Amino acid sequence: MTKSVFPFFTVLLGSLILYTSCSNNDNDTTTTTDNDVAKTPVSAFDEFNKDAVTISFDGDEITIETNGMPNHTSPYWEETAPLYIAPVVAIAQTPGRIGDRNLTVTIPAAPEIAASSTATGLGPIGISVTGVPIFNDTEGPNRPIEEQIVETFDYAGAHNGPSGYHYHIESYDVPENTVLSHNDEKLVGIMADGFLIYGRKCNSLGDHPTNLDVSGGHISSTQHSDGEEFYHYHIINEFYLGSIIALFAGDLQGTPNSIM
Ligand SMILES: [Zn+2]
Ligand SMILES: [Zn+2]
Repeated sequence: MTKSVFPFFTVLLGSLILYTSCSNNDNDTTTTTDNDVAKTPVSAFDEFNKDAVTISFDGDEITIETNGMPNHTSPYWEETAPLYIAPVVAIAQTPGRIGDRNLTVTIPAAPEIAASSTATGLGPIGISVTGVPIFNDTEGPNRPIEEQIVETFDYAGAHNGPSGYHYHIESYDVPENTVLSHNDEKLVGIMADGFLIYGRKCNSLGDHPTNLDVSGGHISSTQHSDGEEFYHYHIINEFYLGSIIALFAGDLQGTPNSIM
C-alpha cells in the first residue's frame, strides 16, 4: 500500500508547484528559465490513467510506471473482466489476454533533440495515457504491419503479444471508443525520449499541422503548455496501409530511455 501512496503524493505536490508557478507568472513578466530547453508541461501528466500509471517527479527527471492495463473496453480482456466486450473491429485475435505487468521509464523533465535521431526497435517505444505501451509499425524483425496483422487489432489499435497488450495504430472511430484519440488533438502518450505525442491535430491550430518533421514532431504550444512552445510529436495524418494510421513509425528525435 505505501508503495502507491508516496508517488500519488508526489503527483499532488507536482501539480501544486505548477499551480503556484502559474499564479506567479500572472504578476511577473520576467522569465526564470536558465536555458532555452522547454520543460514538458506538467499538466499533461494529469491525463494519464491513474488506475494504471504512477508518475513521480524528481528534480530533472520524471519516472513513469504502468501496469499496462487500459481504462477502456477490449475483446482482449478476460471474458469475465468488467471491460470485456465482443470484438467490434477485430477479425482474428492474437493469443493471450490483458494482464498485469510492470513497465517503467525515467525521462528528463526537459528533453532535448539529439544530434542524430534513433530508430525504434521491437517492444515498447512509449507509454500511452491509458497505461498501455506504444509499439512501432513492425510486428517482428523486418516485418512491417501487414493486412493479416491489422485484422487482429481491436478498436483501440491494439493486440496482445508475448510481452502483453500494446498499441500499434490509431484507434478506430466507433461508438465504443470513448477514451482514445481519433483524428483530434488529444494527448496520446509520451515517447521513450521524453517527448509527448498528440493526436493528428494540434491545439495551437485546431487542425492538422503542416510543418511536422519526418517523425511527426514540431515546436508549438498545446492545450497543456499555457502558451509556451515546446517540441512534441503528432500522429502523422497519413495512411500507413489501407485506411490505418500508424501511431509512430519514424525515428525518435531525442535520446531514447529504456522502457523496462
Ligand atoms: Zn504487436
Ligand atoms: Zn503540435
